[in-house]
Amino acid sequence: MPEREPSPTYKGMNLSGWGRFGRFDCRVLRAEKISQFENSIQNTVGETLIARGYGRSYGDAAVNQAGVTLLTERLDRILAFDEDTGLLTAEPGVSLETLLSVFIPRGWMVPVVPGTKFVSLGGAVAADIHGKNHHREGSFSKHLRSFKLIDGQMQKHICSREENPDFFWATVGGMGLTGLVSEVQLQLQRIPSSRIKMVALPAKNLPELIEAFAEHEQKHHFSVAWLDCLAGGSSLGRGILLLGDFAEEGDFRWNRKAPLSVPFQAPNFLLNHISMGLFNELYYRLPRPETQIVDADKFFFPLDRFSNWNYMYGPRGFIQYQCLLPGPNATKGLEQILKLCQSERMPSYFAVLKRFAKAEQHEHASLSFPDEGYTLAIDFPGSSRLADLCHKLDQIVIEHAGRIYLAKDSMMNPETFAQMYPQAQQWQEICQRLASPKVFSSNLSRRLGLTD
Ligand SMILES: Cc1cc2nc3c(=O)[nH]c(=O)nc-3n(C[C@H](O)[C@H](O)[C@H](O)COP(=O)(O)OP(=O)(O)OC[C@H]3O[C@@H](n4cnc5c(N)ncnc54)[C@H](O)[C@@H]3O)c2cc1C
Repeated sequence: MPEREPSPTYKGMNLSGWGRFGRFDCRVLRAEKISQFENSIQNTVGETLIARGYGRSYGDAAVNQAGVTLLTERLDRILAFDEDTGLLTAEPGVSLETLLSVFIPRGWMVPVVPGTKFVSLGGAVAADIHGKNHHREGSFSKHLRSFKLIDGQMQKHICSREENPDFFWATVGGMGLTGLVSEVQLQLQRIPSSRIKMVALPAKNLPELIEAFAEHEQKHHFSVAWLDCLAGGSSLGRGILLLGDFAEEGDFRWNRKAPLSVPFQAPNFLLNHISMGLFNELYYRLPRPETQIVDADKFFFPLDRFSNWNYMYGPRGFIQYQCLLPGPNATKGLEQILKLCQSERMPSYFAVLKRFAKAEQHEHASLSFPDEGYTLAIDFPGSSRLADLCHKLDQIVIEHAGRIYLAKDSMMNPETFAQMYPQAQQWQEICQRLASPKVFSSNLSRRLGLTD
């Protein structure tokens, strides 16, 4: 007798994004196999669906309060790997952490990793994630050979640059709205060692930091800057530029320290201007060697040291506002943003600055975020004044022809979105061909007017 597939069951679950700013009661469906999702999608007539990986998007992209949220984390099988070419085939729920722990010891690396390793392959495709090496390696899609997509009519498509290229480009950065990515083919990258040679260069203010990017970035594989948003006056935008390269020699160990845990939701008063001002001052002045060799885990994922650091913001939660400012006026725009936050008395306690190179898929219909310019990611504790602040920040970003990263967004409205993503109309036309907008829909897509 053939083994009967257990049918997945619907459950109620209270979901949020990583920022925990806004929690929503949802119906979820968790499956062990893609075929179980297929059956359920077929039987779910008239319901909207959205896939969810590890919920590391900050806002409401992986939440569907009006329908069903498909939990993919048990679709976590590595299906094939070619030791000669580095071509990997895997299910969408495989995490980057799994891939790093399996393949770094074999001398292969995931070519683009974000600031956390707890991200699924499906989530990496849907957000077209970027890392500290965008100036060298572009975004995740650059290394994506192909993927399988199940659309809103249960049609299956193989998508690559050659086969169904429109669907390929609409899905990368498409935030799960073109359908369910059910299998991913990714090109891994050979590395000389798992250790990173890291250089730390302090900069007294924003112009100095931008100059340091311009002077040093091209010489290194990885770059990212920590920014002190509380410093003002002649120190506005001071920070530390971190540069990195794979060490030429070393082992291929994946040294992952067991994560610590924040034992309780911190009280709201713990993070405030005084405590964070003190922290930033100490961090900026901390004596550190200009060059050191560190583990990949420490270099790429310092925040993962605490498994639930998002609890630090307490019950009010937080948002992350990540914008891209292109062109030669980016520095001016960044200064305006930092000054606005300070004059509103809402400076960010945690901020990161990176530089992007020109995007490969620029001219294609895509909601992918990275393109040439500077990207600033700033965290704000939850507050009733956030909507007003974000609206003012949006105006600066629009004036500089920039945009906001959808994987981080919690606040944008349809008008702002249309100004920042003028190519969205073209993208929607492709989605109509997939018949997905009626079926695949999230809190984010409805808030932005991308789906009904
Ligand atoms: C600490 C931290 C640091 C981060 N740093 C960066 C960074 O440096 N660069 C960067 O680019 N991002 C960064 N991110 C954001 C993160 O990489 C993205 O939000 C990513 O999409 C999260 O993956 P996930 O598996 O958690 O997806 P989820 O958050 O669960 O979902 C994100 C989107 O992917 C879609 N999705 C998930 N699985 C599928 C699937 N199988 N098929 C179709 N759609 C799917 C969802 O519908 C949703 O729209 C960071 C996040 C955190 C918490």
